[in-house]
Amino acid sequence: MISIGIDVGSVAAKAVAYDGQKVIANAILPTGWSPKKTGERLLNQIMKELNITRNDISSIVGTGYGRVSLPFIDKKVTEITCHGKGAHYMDPDIRVVIDIGGQDSKVIKLNDNGTVGDFLMNDKCAAGTGRFLQVMANALEIDVSDLSKLASDVEPANINSMCTVFAESEVVSLIAEGTSKEAIASGLLHSVCNKTYSLVSKLGVENKVFFSGGVSKNKKLVDLLSNKLGVDIISSDEAQFLGAIGAAIIGY
Ligand code: ADP
Repeated sequence: MISIGIDVGSVAAKAVAYDGQKVIANAILPTGWSPKKTGERLLNQIMKELNITRNDISSIVGTGYGRVSLPFIDKKVTEITCHGKGAHYMDPDIRVVIDIGGQDSKVIKLNDNGTVGDFLMNDKCAAGTGRFLQVMANALEIDVSDLSKLASDVEPANINSMCTVFAESEVVSLIAEGTSKEAIASGLLHSVCNKTYSLVSKLGVENKVFFSGGVSKNKKLVDLLSNKLGVDIISSDEAQFLGAIGAAIIGY
């Protein structure tokens, strides 16, 4: 039997299939205006890839902010619980998960069995989230995926404002003053690193630390955060799917 986990986030919707041992398929789409339609498209995409029908699926679990809009799922589970389960699947020794997605960031502490011990979440403000980086990448007229490479080995420009709106004005002024895009990109990643560091510090660091969510694709940020926290932060190409993986495992 196969279980499916669907994580409908603010920016991206992710789905995975799990066979009781491992993840056997994944799919990702922009969430768009209809979480329901996007969720259905993801499910169809996975069934097509695996050449299976709904009868071959033992359960579908939904997570993420859009989980309430999926009428075809068997169960809804919070992102925090799903990220915990997903991290435990990645490596049972993981004790802290840092998740930075499109519109929020969270830190989750895990018990030995992958259940959640404690967590903290910033969902009140875009600072330090994917949205912050997206706005700044637009101001720099680059793709968000280019920020990491651009920022490598450059002295960071000073970005003082934490607020996304004010920081964007600062970036525009820095561009006008002739500051290089590289230095600005580096300054922006330092800003996200500092913001994340304050959130993580409130819960405390414990080895091993896993970085999940779309923003974890930014390798420079992973390095900055590893140095600042004084631990080796691990991540994975599947890190953006962590919530969906946890949902599928819970369903199984
Ligand atoms: P959500 O679950 O809230 O939709 P995700 O965890 O799927 O969020 O992450 C989406 C975010 O990841 C987007 O805001 C985007 O800016 C960011 N992102 C995607 N690719 C990259 C990348 N290569 N580098 C940095 N950020 C990225």
